[in-house]
Amino acid sequence: MTNILEVNELVTGYRGKNGYLKAVDGVSFAIKEGETICIVGESGSGKSVTSMSVMRLVEYENGKILAGEINFKGEDLAKKTTEEMRKLRGSEISMIFQEPLTALNPVFTIGKQISEAILFHQKIPKKLAMARAEELLTLVGLSEPKTRLKQFPHELSGGMRQRVMIAIALATEPDLLIADEPTTALDVTIEAQILELLRKIRQEKNMAIMLITHDIGVAVEMSQRIIIMYAGKIMEIAETNDIMKRPYHPYTKALLESVPTMDGERGSLLKSIKGSIPSLNELPAGCRFAPRCPLATEQCHQEQPPLETMQNRQVACWHVDKMKSLYEHEKGGEP
Ligand code: ATP
Ligand code: MG
Repeated sequence: MTNILEVNELVTGYRGKNGYLKAVDGVSFAIKEGETICIVGESGSGKSVTSMSVMRLVEYENGKILAGEINFKGEDLAKKTTEEMRKLRGSEISMIFQEPLTALNPVFTIGKQISEAILFHQKIPKKLAMARAEELLTLVGLSEPKTRLKQFPHELSGGMRQRVMIAIALATEPDLLIADEPTTALDVTIEAQILELLRKIRQEKNMAIMLITHDIGVAVEMSQRIIIMYAGKIMEIAETNDIMKRPYHPYTKALLESVPTMDGERGSLLKSIKGSIPSLNELPAGCRFAPRCPLATEQCHQEQPPLETMQNRQVACWHVDKMKSLYEHEKGGEP
């Protein structure tokens, strides 16, 4: 299947006192047409910076793409002008964010905001845009769409506002939807409904989705493949099923073990491993996860492991063989 997006050796930095601090440091991955891929990692691992780089939004907050390519349908987004990106954003690539209230304008009605989004990219009569807005509200499962069109953001619940944001993101039928923690601000039942909506839309529209979440449980439910990030680097990329059954990176394994059980607490990541993610100005010399890794050896502290391709996946760890040996006793285990 064709790749819709190919990110190659992306480096994105933020201006600090002594030059740029690299929030994303040599990240490469691809998304296939119609695929849902999840980026998972703890807070500060560079998930949002990766997506903001693809959208070319980092330069609006003191950041810069320092190196790499972002090929979207064969064109390098890293080389596009601000004006070209403005046209592309919201038309061929759309993004939804965590907090739907701040993303909506409080002084305009829902109808106005959705129709404006349509009119920005398509020259059609206003009436038609409003009718299309109503269709979109129906598509995202909002009841009484006619009434909603006339309402203001504060009159809707958080879950309803996120549906409106999804409607806006879908207004121009993008080929890629980037969703950065779209359900973190919502409660569990509403989260499930929004995730179900994304699944439905993906199927109906055959749209690729890059979903960012710190919750590997959500990633397992939603995606075909998962990218595990830690401190600005990719640790592992594999099919969801493989990640779930046989994590090859100790960090992936730790994330999976931190998934709370039914009676456990929600959202408390990495109870199973001590320590925290390093800050960008004091990154370890070797593997960035080494200070917290149960398998770390001298080599891990000295040398960064490259992201290596093996079987159907990519892993950056010096101890993949040890990890694999954990699964050797399993029936049909890989060699
Ligand atoms: P979270 O789960 O909390 O959203 P994340 O994985 O999305 O985390 P990022 O927001 O991508 O993390 O941040 C990665 C690193 O980049 C962090 O160390 C963060 O402090 C830094 N960073 C992000 N935005 C900026 C900014 N505007 N200026 C300076 N540093 C930034
Ligand atoms: Mg983030």
